[in-house]
Amino acid sequence: MPEGHVLHRLANRLKKDFRGQALQVSSPQGRFAESAQLLDGTEIVSAHAHGKHLFIEFEAARFVHIHLGLYGKWRFSSVVEGEAPDPIGQVRLRLVSDSEVADLSGPTRCALVTRDEVDEVIARLGPDPLDPQEGDRARFINEVRKRRRAIGELVMDQSVVAGPGNIYRAESLFRVGISPFRKGANTSRTRIGQLWDDLIVLMEDGVETGIITTIDPEDAPAELIEGDAEASRFYVYHRTGRPCVVCGTPVSEQLVAGRRLFWCSHCQR
Ligand SMILES: [Zn+2]
Repeated sequence: MPEGHVLHRLANRLKKDFRGQALQVSSPQGRFAESAQLLDGTEIVSAHAHGKHLFIEFEAARFVHIHLGLYGKWRFSSVVEGEAPDPIGQVRLRLVSDSEVADLSGPTRCALVTRDEVDEVIARLGPDPLDPQEGDRARFINEVRKRRRAIGELVMDQSVVAGPGNIYRAESLFRVGISPFRKGANTSRTRIGQLWDDLIVLMEDGVETGIITTIDPEDAPAELIEGDAEASRFYVYHRTGRPCVVCGTPVSEQLVAGRRLFWCSHCQR
């Protein structure tokens, strides 16, 4: 599943390439046809992501709420000589500008909603490190502190913090040295605050570059390691049994709540 930075990049792209002109809006697959008809010929006013949710605002305060889930994806292509290419696969939503096509396929959710419904979705989510508002850092600290669940699970809980997925979870906890098994309630406010700050640093880099790289250059191996390419990008993610680049202890892996969790048992306490 894409992590939050992907949705923020999509929102930026939709604003940059599609805003401010009447769009052809359709649902080649048909499942969004009625809503698409309402939007057809109108303009995108804005696009905004919160965590893994994407909201596209059209004229007349009509919003499309999208969650990609596990299989959803956007495909962008060019309009050539006034012709949009044929849709590939099951395209739920198609946006066509003068020059570009955006095709959405396989989302968990793609629905026309009101501004109130957008607000309700966001209210159920935790703060987003990619859109930090005043008080969000303290809110994150409080949400973690009041729970007895392991912090490794809390960082993946979208009602605690919106956006991080499995990679940012593993890597940010390593970088601040917190064991993923430490209970939220037993983690100091200082350390939880450091975790929030690091999520912002890592995820902003993801928005900028489009790829997740979490290892500091001075910690990365000088050359690509055969069979351990991840060591050039990550500290622990997908590096089970490989030596921790900081201390040499083999990286651990365990299935937690159905997701693979990676950590260094020496560096993280
Ligand atoms: Zn280590």
